Amino acid sequence: MSDLIVPPAHERGADYSRTLRLAAANAAHDEIALKSRLEGSVVRVSADPTAPAALITLQVLVANLRRLPVQLHLDPRGGDKEIPSRWLSDLEQLAAGIDPERPLVVTSRVGDGVHVHVGTSSTTALASGVADGHGTRIRPRGTGFSTLAAAGTGLGGVLTASLLTAEVFKVVVGVLPNRRGDLRPIDFCPVTLDAPQREVALLGTLHDTTLVGCGAIGTAIALILRELTADGTLTVVDPQIFETPNVTTYSLGDLDDAASQVRKVDLIERELRTMDVSPHEGFARDYIDAIENGQFTMPQIVLGALDSIEARHDIAAIHAQHVLDGSTGGPAGTMLSLSEATWAGPCLRCYFPARTSEAPTTDELLAQRTGLSLARISRGQDPLTPQELDELGQLSEKDRAILETQVGKAVCGLGKALGLVGQADDFNPSAAFVAQQAAALVVGSLIRGGLGAQARSVQYDALFGPRDEMTMARSPQPDCRCQTQRSLHEQVRSYRGAQ
Ligand SMILES: [Zn+2]
Repeated sequence: MSDLIVPPAHERGADYSRTLRLAAANAAHDEIALKSRLEGSVVRVSADPTAPAALITLQVLVANLRRLPVQLHLDPRGGDKEIPSRWLSDLEQLAAGIDPERPLVVTSRVGDGVHVHVGTSSTTALASGVADGHGTRIRPRGTGFSTLAAAGTGLGGVLTASLLTAEVFKVVVGVLPNRRGDLRPIDFCPVTLDAPQREVALLGTLHDTTLVGCGAIGTAIALILRELTADGTLTVVDPQIFETPNVTTYSLGDLDDAASQVRKVDLIERELRTMDVSPHEGFARDYIDAIENGQFTMPQIVLGALDSIEARHDIAAIHAQHVLDGSTGGPAGTMLSLSEATWAGPCLRCYFPARTSEAPTTDELLAQRTGLSLARISRGQDPLTPQELDELGQLSEKDRAILETQVGKAVCGLGKALGLVGQADDFNPSAAFVAQQAAALVVGSLIRGGLGAQARSVQYDALFGPRDEMTMARSPQPDCRCQTQRSLHEQVRSYRGAQ
């Protein structure tokens, strides 16, 4: 869930502040410089209309790229066939709903800019991608595709689009070399947590399932469920209305929805036409009250899509059998994870223990790391001088090399240059392509059937991509409430009518 942010009156169109904040956390430029850099960047999209899940992949890719203030071009003849005109008008409309002042330009003119391709036929695109079953295959220019294992699904399409967006983001933002992985072949399925396979498990009919949080991750989960034509019942819980800043960071909803102040739960109900959705406007705590009042039955599966530790503890307090929690964050906002939890442990408290009040701020971390005094750091706009750098005796060679690039620049940027973000900071950058990958892991776990014999967590950075060592088996923390108060929690579950 996002904080309430009222867009400034002069900003009538799209609000790119959160995405620019995430970009600035990963680049050597501030948000103002990045906005001009992005406005000067051309991104060109082409597609093979016959590629598996081509339409949904294109839709999500175009929408994701429109959530950056770049010049967005779509080449209707850049693939194995011409893109059908009804697809083009649909894509133009989608982009206009996000930012009417920056229309999608349909053109076959080849010029400079970053080129990405949906499908396998391009020899010129920087990166190409295609859905393979629930997974994706991404290839850099000059690297061929292996034979696809299965027909692409909506999950595979959304994941493909989010990974292609990440490749564009790295280039147009100018992400720092230490904050990004190289473009490389990726073969990844969020269901198998391995390469795409020939057998594609189906998403079963949902029941006794609740989505808590209709923000960046919640709308991405709903988008994937919509594109999988999910059926069954789903309860959705969120207290907020949809607002302008959400248009550029969420996966569903446009400026019209923000203008009409639609409730986030209603937005998701509207999009999930093939499901029976029960909206509940409120926080997780209110939902627990509603279960205890008999308004809702106790869920078996909770899909967690909230952004604070405190809110996750409220999800833990539901004491559901399966909690599949998606999260994004980390020092630069690009880490994403799935945490598989259960009331008996590991619960979400095991994964996200309460913060201690002694957690250091960025300034304190910077002082410890560099030896600069807190008083000096507080004069944030004063540039770092060569003399100051010379006098820092405790610096590692690597940190000194980083700080040498910062001489003459404002000291307030040093924390970012060193990758430091204190826990006490209010830092809430967000981008749809990161949230979509967290959502893909959540839905992948749902398709696997929730927790297997062993709860697992999956974590990677969207600017590095899925990697081999991203999956970990998780056990309960011995001192967590789920272990020390187990019989109490069992009574609570039985009071709430858990099966
Ligand atoms: Zn626990």
